[in-house]
Amino acid sequence: MDRRILLASVAGLLGLLSFRWLRAEPANSAEKLAAEKFEVEKTDAEWRAQLTPQQYDILRKHGTERPWSSPLVKEHRKGTFACAGCDLPLFASDTKFESGTGWPSFFQPLDNALGRTEDRTYGMTRIEVHCRRCGGHLGHVFDDGPKPTGLRYCMNGVALQFRAA
Ligand SMILES: [Zn+2]
Repeated sequence: MDRRILLASVAGLLGLLSFRWLRAEPANSAEKLAAEKFEVEKTDAEWRAQLTPQQYDILRKHGTERPWSSPLVKEHRKGTFACAGCDLPLFASDTKFESGTGWPSFFQPLDNALGRTEDRTYGMTRIEVHCRRCGGHLGHVFDDGPKPTGLRYCMNGVALQFRAA
């Protein structure tokens, strides 16, 4: 093998490794939130014991439910949507709208309910949305929602629990 090619390959590989090594900020929103402090904090084992496997996957591991799989997509009664992890009220029913996406969608959260991080997984930059109190992952917010906010909070129904008024 040509010595120059070998050296170039080794240099390239080292460059790649150091690039990954030096990448200070995680792209993954789950990693970012794991480093943050929240009012309600539990160990991984405690969350596993409290939540269903699907709730755990979405709230704690930033999973996404299949579209149209949540009964809350078609929930139209008056009431409040609270965090399935810690019970904090997150959305009022009068801010829910039909987005046609298959996920429960809202144009405005309740005051002091949500936190946000930048999520750069899957080659996209999206704004991740989580519960302000327990850090549980809820979904993402996009800027193609209806008036008056123009925002679309695209939530996993599994991460929410509905309380009829
Ligand atoms: Zn919560």
